[in-house]
Amino acid sequence: MVRKVKTFKGDGGVPNDTGTYRKGELRGIIKIDQETCVGCDTCRTVCPAGAVKGSVGEKHSIDVDRCINCGQCLLNCPFGAIEQMSFVDHVIEKLKDKKTKVVAIIAPAVRVAIAEEFGAEPGTLTVGRLWAALKTAGFDIYENNFAADQTILEEGTELLARVAAHSGLKELPVELWGKKIVLEVEEFKHKPLPQFTSCCPAWVRYAEIYYPKVLPNISSCKSPQQMAGATAKTYGAKDVWKVKPENIFTVGVMPCTAKIFEASRPEFDSAGRFLKISGMRDVDAVLTTRDLAEVFRKLNINPMKLPEERQPKDFMQYTGGATIFGVSGGVMEAAVRFAFHVLSGLEPKAMSPQWDFEDVRGYRHPVVSATIPVPLKADYKKAFKTDQLNIKVCVVNGIGPDGAHLKPVIEDVVAGKSPYHFIEVMTCPGGCINGGGQPCHPVELSLWEKFLYALAGSAKK
Ligand code: SF4
Ligand code: SF4
Ligand code: SF4
Repeated sequence: MVRKVKTFKGDGGVPNDTGTYRKGELRGIIKIDQETCVGCDTCRTVCPAGAVKGSVGEKHSIDVDRCINCGQCLLNCPFGAIEQMSFVDHVIEKLKDKKTKVVAIIAPAVRVAIAEEFGAEPGTLTVGRLWAALKTAGFDIYENNFAADQTILEEGTELLARVAAHSGLKELPVELWGKKIVLEVEEFKHKPLPQFTSCCPAWVRYAEIYYPKVLPNISSCKSPQQMAGATAKTYGAKDVWKVKPENIFTVGVMPCTAKIFEASRPEFDSAGRFLKISGMRDVDAVLTTRDLAEVFRKLNINPMKLPEERQPKDFMQYTGGATIFGVSGGVMEAAVRFAFHVLSGLEPKAMSPQWDFEDVRGYRHPVVSATIPVPLKADYKKAFKTDQLNIKVCVVNGIGPDGAHLKPVIEDVVAGKSPYHFIEVMTCPGGCINGGGQPCHPVELSLWEKFLYALAGSAKK
């Protein structure tokens, strides 16, 4: 049983730089309905960014300049008082326009959640039915997992380059799928370690607002959503769909409210810059998992009643490394598997039992760390002047209330005391599977909480 979340229509972003927003960025994606809020204070206690203002019994509000758009307040509000910006009607208009090819970029966490919106048990996996429903609605499909594999190649290579540069190397010859290339790594001396992951837009905004000193530590890779948008409008338009890039409308379908903001960032117009088409965005609109269910409902499509579609086309194939992006620890694990394989020449499973992958995934602890011994290939032993590299990694599994989980880790980085090579930060506890755009469940209040809010509310009257 899921709870319906109220939405309001999205706009085109701020007309000029305003507070912490740049021209064109979407501001106020999440807002509190003052009529419905009873001042229970739950949203303030879960907010990772200290962006909620108010005390128990008072109407609460969000300071948009501090908000990182994660939607955790919305998921946790017991009274359904928090609303989300939505582009459902805009996407439906595009689906009805025969000149436009509408491409859905679907994230891994959506496929295990969308079924809940149609009455199935939480966790029901619906890849084939989701593909069928998207096709019935008129979408073409770009699996975000395909882009996640691209991200791992980029982010894993960047990690290798930073580690090699900080070990004094100028170049690193690598062999990938039988092809030999030489990475020029000297410039990475100026990119500090540890490297942070870059795929969570709420974390990136958190760093920009609260810890700008660590921005050089964040991987320069785009998130999978943005890689997918840029590739769809360039390679996809020319070589796969053979249509004009201007006629492609890309829609991120995400478990995440922060991705709505991410798509509006001014720098994400790389396809347009490459093709010299002014005003073209890499990703034109973002739907949350809940929004996609709303699109299906408005078009009278029930994915659970459709036969499974099982014919992956271009942009629909992917590895298991991409699928684990949806859970905390997954991005780091996939990148480290890649780096381990390149440096040791061994299959990633050779890492076990030295490193139990399961320990860094999921909800187990707010912060987990591991050391991965990487036995070096013969030609790397001489270059690195050692037989084995010990890669130290850390996963921040949810930034935590007012940054409680992340702050000690990041402050060590700022102080130059961090022992790690690579740190993954996912804003939502457990990762995207628990993102602010996922189906929303009614939150049960204890009896004493009900008494407390009733009392505090009446005291203000
Ligand atoms: S009802 Fe409680 S959780 Fe919801 S917005 Fe108001 S203070 Fe926040
Ligand atoms: S919980 Fe997330 S979306 Fe809500 S106010 Fe805080 S930062 Fe913004
Ligand atoms: S953890 Fe995932 S769902 Fe949550 S804000 Fe980051 S990218 Fe979005």
